[in-house]
Amino acid sequence: MKHISLLIKPASSLCNMNCKYCFYADVEHNRLNKNLKLMNYETINKLIDEALKYDNIHFAFQGGEPTLAGLSYFEYFVYTVNKKKTNQKVTYALQTNGILIDKKWIEFFKENHFLVGISLDGIKIVHNKIRVMNGKGTFDDVMRTIKLCQKEQINYNVLTVISSSLVKYAKDIYKFYKKNNIYNIQFIPCLPELENDSGKYALTPEMYFKFYKDIFEEWYKDIKYNEYISISLFEDLLMIFSGKLPRTCGALGQCTVQYIIESNGDVYPCDFYAIDRYCLGNLMSNTLSSMKNNENAQKFLHEKHPISKLCSNCEFVNICHGNCKRMTPVLFNDHYCGYRAFLNISYKKFYDIAKSINQKYPLK
Ligand code: SF4
Ligand code: SF4
Repeated sequence: MKHISLLIKPASSLCNMNCKYCFYADVEHNRLNKNLKLMNYETINKLIDEALKYDNIHFAFQGGEPTLAGLSYFEYFVYTVNKKKTNQKVTYALQTNGILIDKKWIEFFKENHFLVGISLDGIKIVHNKIRVMNGKGTFDDVMRTIKLCQKEQINYNVLTVISSSLVKYAKDIYKFYKKNNIYNIQFIPCLPELENDSGKYALTPEMYFKFYKDIFEEWYKDIKYNEYISISLFEDLLMIFSGKLPRTCGALGQCTVQYIIESNGDVYPCDFYAIDRYCLGNLMSNTLSSMKNNENAQKFLHEKHPISKLCSNCEFVNICHGNCKRMTPVLFNDHYCGYRAFLNISYKKFYDIAKSINQKYPLK
């Protein structure tokens, strides 16, 4: 059974918000070809034809803001997949800032079983400082979309960027999400800029530890009362301690080709590295399978992975393997490793939970 997962940018880096830490704006800044247009019909059809060579296909849409391509883009995409597919199993996901989502979008998501990721940076005071549109905070708009998803029983999760502004509110954020029935949370660290390791909102290894320590304390209290909130890093660790593969790319220290499809058909190996020197080719002239194995892909997969001086005598090296190479400035330097500090206080508890969790909790 051949599986493929594609991360598609129908509107490239176009966005209707100006989040202050936007990593894809930084990626675009590092490309010669900026401001790509919306994906055209020819590219959509070529993309679908390529994808349908596989048996099991996951189409994930992201940006920028993918909904700027318009609902008609997605209707055409799903219609074309349904028309062309034979026995393939197809699933869909979309990551959105939530601003444009209305009842029509919700109906579409429901009908086509989309998993919807909604970006929310915890509580109002943090979110409105960073996730802005025309100079104004967007918290109320995003919460409206989350409530709509809850009411209409859309399969959704919340994606929260752990920025330097958010760290001190970790416990408040956990409690706020719980109070608002948000039970599936993906936390992703805010990264320094690609080429110069700086960024006002980027996380340091010390902040990484503090944030996850605080979240873990709340989460662990709930676990003891059989209340389970899904948190991406914790699920990965539970998977690892259960002898299964974690879901997050890089959680075991190895890059894989992720197939990032830009709106003009250019293909990149990773969302963090969608820049010229890593481009694998263009869909209109290359197959996905040939791009996966070409010279640029090999270069990306085998380039040097930064490690800390601390790794050489770290007891967690077989859990971590240095983690995702793009995350390293957030995780460690040569004097301190936030990931190791977190594992130190938590690994025994994760290990114990992992022993019983498969029966109790919905780990797939
Ligand atoms: S850089 Fe990180 S996210 Fe990208 S392919 Fe490598 S491990 Fe995965
Ligand atoms: S936990 Fe930190 S010190 Fe240990 S192996 Fe991973 S990156 Fe290295």
